[in-house]
Amino acid sequence: MCGIVGYTGPKEAYPIVITGLKRLEYRGYDSTGVALLNSGLKVYKKKGRVAELEESILGKDLHAHTGIGHTRWATHGEPSDRNAHPHTSASGKLAMIHNGIIENYAQLKKELGNKGYVFTSDTDTEVLLNFIEDIKENNQCDLEEAVRVALKRVTGAYVILLLDADSPDTIIAARKGSPLVIGVGKGEHFLGSDASPMLEYTKEVVYVNDYELAIVRPNELILKNLGNEKITPFVTKLDMELAEIEKGGYDHFMLKEIFEQPSTIHDCLRGRLDATAGTITMSGIQNNIEHFKNAQRIIMVACGTSWHAALLAEYIIEELCRIPVEVEYASEFRYRNPIVNKGDIIVAISQSGETADTLVAIERAKENGAIIFGVVNVVGSSIARISDGGAYTHAGPEIGVASTKAFTGQLAVLIMMALKIAKEKGTISDERYKNLLLELDAVPEKVNAILKNADALKAIALKYKGASDALYLGRGYNFPIALEGALKLKEISYIHAEGYPAAEMKHGPIALVDENLPVVFIATKDSYHEKIVSNIQEIKARKGKVIAVITEGDEIIPGMADDVFYIPEADEIIAPMLSTIPMQLLSYYVGIAKGVDVDKPRNLAKSVTVE
Ligand code: GLU
Repeated sequence: MCGIVGYTGPKEAYPIVITGLKRLEYRGYDSTGVALLNSGLKVYKKKGRVAELEESILGKDLHAHTGIGHTRWATHGEPSDRNAHPHTSASGKLAMIHNGIIENYAQLKKELGNKGYVFTSDTDTEVLLNFIEDIKENNQCDLEEAVRVALKRVTGAYVILLLDADSPDTIIAARKGSPLVIGVGKGEHFLGSDASPMLEYTKEVVYVNDYELAIVRPNELILKNLGNEKITPFVTKLDMELAEIEKGGYDHFMLKEIFEQPSTIHDCLRGRLDATAGTITMSGIQNNIEHFKNAQRIIMVACGTSWHAALLAEYIIEELCRIPVEVEYASEFRYRNPIVNKGDIIVAISQSGETADTLVAIERAKENGAIIFGVVNVVGSSIARISDGGAYTHAGPEIGVASTKAFTGQLAVLIMMALKIAKEKGTISDERYKNLLLELDAVPEKVNAILKNADALKAIALKYKGASDALYLGRGYNFPIALEGALKLKEISYIHAEGYPAAEMKHGPIALVDENLPVVFIATKDSYHEKIVSNIQEIKARKGKVIAVITEGDEIIPGMADDVFYIPEADEIIAPMLSTIPMQLLSYYVGIAKGVDVDKPRNLAKSVTVE
């Protein structure tokens, strides 16, 4: 996490850096800071949001043509002024910002401590910075060489940007494990954790790879590996507009992103799904079709909301393709010495494509000969680049910290994947295949219909906003949606919520049920409908408050539930794409009613580039 920005060129650096930080704030908002280079270093930093720093330095000397900025998601040391980046070295000549974790910082800190270094923060970043300076002074070398030497001793993940008071127009950058994009302008360069800070200035970007070092000047971009050999920068064209990262009249990015779903799902299906012709075109699958057809198993690796998409995919792929699927939390998978054989297919799911745990997990699996298939949203991201094949979710930039449109994009991709493999394998009947294609095609329109009824969820939210706990229950394909609904409520409203398979509830959580407990049932018409009706009865018998998401035309549940929300009829495999929408809206409206900053809920950040 953490957002980093840099600029060097003829323009004033500060406005570019501060605007860039606002766009990257989704990555962390514990503190903000900038370092400006103009006849010496000027560093301004502060606990809190970008706007607070901006306000506090009004009227200060902000003139510079080279500058860097940071928005922090704290890992080492509490959010505070002193732990805010940029950090300055002991001599005061170097300033550095960092995204990631230096895992062996304690050892380095001890070594530097023995040499008499005194630290002014609790961060791993300040240790690395002084380690670099120490090498620079002892080896009598330039900063670039000192960075190279230092990084060879460092374990962990980083993107670092460094300014040296003695080199007025130069930014030195290096990357391993965290994202870094360099925008190439005319006589100027931009740096960012993603491309958003440079969108209005250039569409030409270079994605820096792991173990690469960049020396960035207004007219020059030199890329090198840690062995000091030059690498030719590979310039790609950005396919993103400024409007895509703005709120567009909505109060919050989260709401905007929820309401964008009819079009983002449509964009995801477009060019792939042709329901009339009965075809799905996905080159990532097609190029690896023999592997998929012969796969002994598929392992899905993901974190958070993406993990819920993976769980639903397990149910669908096993049903339609008859391939065993395992769903793994990336953070567990990477450390528990899993059995991965040559030819195993690993599907890595990540909105940002930078999720550190997922990235390392697939790197290991790849070494063992597994085939990596990436389902990511951010084009050009690390997971996309190391995958053997993949499919983008095409949801556009997702800025609200709680994932919404990226999740439905993931579901759309995973369902198409399942259908395509099933068709190729011959494990689905023609009729079911055709029908599911038509059903999928109709999702954007049905999501639109649900959104038109959003006010009904606002009313439900107001009724239950005072709850201290909530239970989310679903069966079969709707069980992952129960998990996702509970996660959304936790993230956005700070109400403790748990998702459970509806029938499993009687093995524990039912003890929590009393007249104060809201229980959200995802109870759309499917093969388990009668079963879930019994589960609702079990909750009502214990006076729990039932909020049920049900299919239009359901005549049974409205008579039992305290509140109902209708969604259009759909095949049970497709229905989760619809039933997840009220989950998102409910948590949004509860969060708003409780006064939570839903786009930036406490302690969270997007694009989790630390382990
Ligand atoms: N480890 C650094 C800190 O705590 C950077 C954190 C990050 O990138 O999330 O300040």
